[in-house]
Amino acid sequence: MGKPIQIVNSHRIAERIYKLSTCSEPTIGVTRLSFTNEFQLAQKMVEKWMLEAGMTVRRDNLNNLIGRYEGKNSHSPVLMIGSHLDTVIEGGKYDGMLGIVAGIEVIAILFENGIILENPIEVVAFCDEEGVRFHSTFLGSKAIAGTLTERDLEATDEQGITVAAAIKQLGLNPLEYQEAAKEPKDVFGYIELHIEQGPILEKEGIACGIATGIAGLSRYSFKVEGFAGHAGTVPAALRKDALVGAAEIILAIEKLVKNHAPLVATVGKLSVKPGSSNVIPGEVLGTIDIRDTNQYRIKEVIQAIFQTCEEICTRRGLTYHVEKVMEAPPVYCCEEISAAIESAIQENGMRPIHLVSGAGHDAMAMADVTKIGMIFVRCEKGISHHPDEHVILDDLGIGAQVLLDTVLKISNYHTTVKERF
Ligand SMILES: [Zn+2]
Repeated sequence: MGKPIQIVNSHRIAERIYKLSTCSEPTIGVTRLSFTNEFQLAQKMVEKWMLEAGMTVRRDNLNNLIGRYEGKNSHSPVLMIGSHLDTVIEGGKYDGMLGIVAGIEVIAILFENGIILENPIEVVAFCDEEGVRFHSTFLGSKAIAGTLTERDLEATDEQGITVAAAIKQLGLNPLEYQEAAKEPKDVFGYIELHIEQGPILEKEGIACGIATGIAGLSRYSFKVEGFAGHAGTVPAALRKDALVGAAEIILAIEKLVKNHAPLVATVGKLSVKPGSSNVIPGEVLGTIDIRDTNQYRIKEVIQAIFQTCEEICTRRGLTYHVEKVMEAPPVYCCEEISAAIESAIQENGMRPIHLVSGAGHDAMAMADVTKIGMIFVRCEKGISHHPDEHVILDDLGIGAQVLLDTVLKISNYHTTVKERF
């Protein structure tokens, strides 16, 4: 079967992205944290568009919004498409939203052309991916994947409001969070379209790419202890300066990582005690964030980092302590879905490029319940989590078209031309 239907409407996508961006706290860029008024306003808009695209809409107890486009066989496993509706503070218009709006566009095109697939499709606007408000990760997609726990609902925001309380305020029942979970037998795949959040597609001059996987993440906290003292009276040779020890460790990590590309490691947070201009630093607390799609390489590098810390601290008369904060293994995209994305990209006149996602996505959580696939869309200069985040109009349409073509390729394709056509 050749190209069956019309091209997606990139102007409609752009207009909706703009409308969603107005649901924000009054900041530069977009600030829309989970379960807030701004969030609910955005959810209302999405609900309206889902209804217009011929979907039935429901909200689960985690405040995920799910639009369902019925298939010929309503009992056949569902294909899910989705992304997140929350943003970081002062973030951009496209991160998350593009995946939702493109998903709705795909269904709108099917609906407007009277096309019904064998399987139902559900488009999900997830409630919390960025995790800014509760320092959580993937609350919504974990609920649907069946991996959310009661502990996740106990996390609190800066006002001391728990996830459970925020859910209750919306008239939902957090105790029934398990009703959101899908059984693996009920879903046959999950596809997410997302901005690349990196510069590779722009560098290659291509609008869309295929994600092969999402990097695993290991996060550690470390403490280097020395001995605080007077900044003027303790001679250099007698100092046990925790900060210079930490600085040497950071530089050593940078050097070490260079030999293990594409693994990346970041020391993103440091706190110096006592933190006074006239006192030698006695203690430094910091974090190390390590990401790669190869779990063995992550383990190997962590061991090497520990050994380097040991050597540096012993030489400097310091002590150190490292603790694991979190670990999420890498996930790999399904070859079958990726092959469909690849051929959709080629049919739209592009060279297929395979990318690894260094950022986490809802797809990572959804991998616990079903096969996943990801389409990346070029974003200007690779900028994301920033008000300048931008995707050109053509790329909005190309991305959504690739998503539509992929959906058609992996769904059992049946058409029913309704009478009005
Ligand atoms: Zn995102």
